[in-house]
Amino acid sequence: MTQIELHNIVKTYPRQALPAAAEVSLHVASGTLVAMLGPSGSGKSTLLKLIAGVELPDNGDIRLDGQSVLDVPAHKRGAVLMFQKAYLFPFLSVAENIAFGLKVQGVSQATQHAEVRRMLELVELPGCERKRPAQLSGGEQQRVALARALVIQPRVLLLDEPFSSLDPTVRQTLQEAVRRIQRERGITTLLVTHDRSEALAMADQVALLDRGELLACAPPQRLFARPPTRRAARLMGVTTFLRGELAGGQLRTGLGTLTVCTEGVPPGQATYAIRPEHLRLGGAPGPNTLPARILSQTFRGEQHEYQAQVGDATIRVWAFQPLDAPIGAQVFVQFPPEHLFAVDDDEPEGRHKHA
Ligand code: ADP
Repeated sequence: MTQIELHNIVKTYPRQALPAAAEVSLHVASGTLVAMLGPSGSGKSTLLKLIAGVELPDNGDIRLDGQSVLDVPAHKRGAVLMFQKAYLFPFLSVAENIAFGLKVQGVSQATQHAEVRRMLELVELPGCERKRPAQLSGGEQQRVALARALVIQPRVLLLDEPFSSLDPTVRQTLQEAVRRIQRERGITTLLVTHDRSEALAMADQVALLDRGELLACAPPQRLFARPPTRRAARLMGVTTFLRGELAGGQLRTGLGTLTVCTEGVPPGQATYAIRPEHLRLGGAPGPNTLPARILSQTFRGEQHEYQAQVGDATIRVWAFQPLDAPIGAQVFVQFPPEHLFAVDDDEPEGRHKHA
């Protein structure tokens, strides 16, 4: 069981204007899985490489169980990395691939055989010892890579988008396998992903990264329901923001006045957000509605996505049933007060429309 602490980590690569890590501090509790979620280039892999010891920070400290590891070389940190591609040795059998780390450590043949068999059962590939990597599917190769990573009993498992090249069904079963094994063995794990649903499904905590900054770190359900800032909310799929003057439970915005929950929000300038599935489109005005015009409708399988114009802003609304109104129709969009939540506005004015 190992806890990981990042303290004010700064890393700027040569000839890069922006830091890949800008004062990142993060605590990964022992035995938990933290997903680092963010768009491409947000600095996720850089943090993994810094923890693994493949890169060194310009500033800050990395501690495993309270001990700084900055002076510890990569091969002595006890962290294993697993990537999008399995990188198995093509001319070695599955058993030889898995046993490789043990062989390097000088472990006896008998123990190697026993460990390989145990690992193959763990990753649900029993009896595959003699196969070559080329005889396995992509998902099976990743299972072997996982077995190879786990056989040396690492302190920390670092997963860099290990599921992203797999088709959806295989991806889901492997995600479930990793989560099961990680929980059973209590291995402290960091998972890098740009897939929001993967992060939410797998992690104990989700760390949201954007342009080298850690925007938030919270349990998945809390982060999904109440992202703390506008940038964090955007990364969680929120596209509608309302900025206005808050007074007496009412938010006066350029688009209209809405009733909102004000618990813990001081009066004055405030920004509220709402998820697309919580907005409601309808033909008639009602409580907390604003007039809107339908711009487009897209069928997305689980839901219908509408774009609607409210004042000079375009908002996105998800509906589980299609609306009986054509493109261009005048409708009303309802903002249920219980789903409007205040966010800290961390985006400069002028970079965005208010909805
Ligand atoms: P992510 O994993 O979120 O896609 P990375 O950590 O790979 O992000 O990259 C963060 C930023 O650092 C990006 O702007 C990327 O171009 C830059 N970067 C990453 N690795 C290097 C490197 N070896 N040399 C120069 N710039 C790099």
